[in-house]
Amino acid sequence: MQKKYCIVITVFVAVLLFLTSFAMKTAQATPVFSFAQTEKTVYLTFDDGPSTVVTNRVLDILAKEEIKATFFVVGEQIEGREETLRRIAAEGHTIGVHSQTHRYNLIYASDDALLRDVHACAERIRAVTGVTPHVYRFPGGGVHRPAQKKLIEREGYRVVEWNAGCGDEEIPNATAERLVKESIASSKGRNTVVFLSHDSPHHKETAAALPEIIDYFRAQGFVFRAF
Ligand SMILES: [Zn+2]
Repeated sequence: MQKKYCIVITVFVAVLLFLTSFAMKTAQATPVFSFAQTEKTVYLTFDDGPSTVVTNRVLDILAKEEIKATFFVVGEQIEGREETLRRIAAEGHTIGVHSQTHRYNLIYASDDALLRDVHACAERIRAVTGVTPHVYRFPGGGVHRPAQKKLIEREGYRVVEWNAGCGDEEIPNATAERLVKESIASSKGRNTVVFLSHDSPHHKETAAALPEIIDYFRAQGFVFRAF
């Protein structure tokens, strides 16, 4: 009996040693963190849509370039553009909650008002696409308080801000060329870029600039991801 146990233990130790040495070799061959450290990632995000012309132009470009992006939509903009919203979902992009009304005085009146706004937008998205959104972007960017961010996170959303963009809301009457320049300037030196742009009706220049913006990030070695 004792001999049997000895054999079992010996075999067990041998297998353990073999697995340990194999694991060490694997670890040496592919250092665990090298990929994460060197990968450059850009998240293209589009706020304030859907719109009929601009959103569909953006979707055409993203399809051609085989890129997935994130669309933070406004609930009140969905009416009459349900097909466009469904197209966003059908083509594999992420739909996030931006706001139902995008009217700051209503949204930020109270915590309850903020949550009502979020839920109303999420409900519209769900009703039209069947998709339950899991990402959120505050309308007006930085006007919210940290406590409001926690409130949204408790509802199960990832709150997405940004660290670069094409400046299409900030630069008055910007041409596509100007938007490309701003995209390059604002993202310089970053390995992870969360890129803000807009697909509301008056942002045709954003759609016109998009192919060149994509070319730029590609040339810099970025991979494109959606949230
Ligand atoms: Zn907005």
